[in-house]
Amino acid sequence: MKHSLFISDLHLSVDRPEVFSAFAKFLVTTAAQADSLYILGDLFEHWAGDDDLDDPFNRQVVSALANLSSGGTALYLMHGNRDFLMGEALVTACGAHLLPDPSLRVIHGVATLLMHGDTLCSDDTAYMTFREQVREAAWQQNFLSQPLTQRKAQIEQLREQSRLAQRQKTAEIMDVNAESVINTLRQRDYPRLIHGHTHRPALHVHEMDGHRCERWVLADWYEQGSYLRCDEHGCTAIKI
Ligand code: MN
Repeated sequence: MKHSLFISDLHLSVDRPEVFSAFAKFLVTTAAQADSLYILGDLFEHWAGDDDLDDPFNRQVVSALANLSSGGTALYLMHGNRDFLMGEALVTACGAHLLPDPSLRVIHGVATLLMHGDTLCSDDTAYMTFREQVREAAWQQNFLSQPLTQRKAQIEQLREQSRLAQRQKTAEIMDVNAESVINTLRQRDYPRLIHGHTHRPALHVHEMDGHRCERWVLADWYEQGSYLRCDEHGCTAIKI
């Protein structure tokens, strides 16, 4: 049966080889059987720019993804808050399509809104301001014009700041804002919603305006790999 798979928040990094091995295995087994694989952000722990494609670890990831797409599984990538600098060179090397965030698509007959999920966490105003800044073309051009080593050092600094800031933030602030979810669903005519980012895997059902919207939150891959499988009968979350 035709089916699509959805994953996010793998946070692949050379420091966590076990996550990459689980992912590589998933690609050649489960994902190779699927019609499509959607990676909804934070595939990488960080992405400093496409000139980092020469890095041996990154090369391994790209070649695993290129093998999947050349084998006939359609591959879709979306930016996360960690890897929003993934550019055309990377996307092309993977044989992938880059999806904007949000993207509304009909998936096996069901209108489905795909997002990374960070924009739903609108209570985190400090992050939302930061996000706006780093998504500006001018900011990105300036950042990418610096040498790769300098960019990596800067990313490390930003991560440290973010770790410190997160200690001050409550669990509620770092989760989705209920009103943002409802507004998003209403604006898009009540689709099914699939997103990651919060690392709080669940199926939420939103009943509103006479509609029933499923919201699937994808799991991260820190402790265990997992994916969402959707076909014409619906979706199922599966642990590897
Ligand atoms: Mn994220």
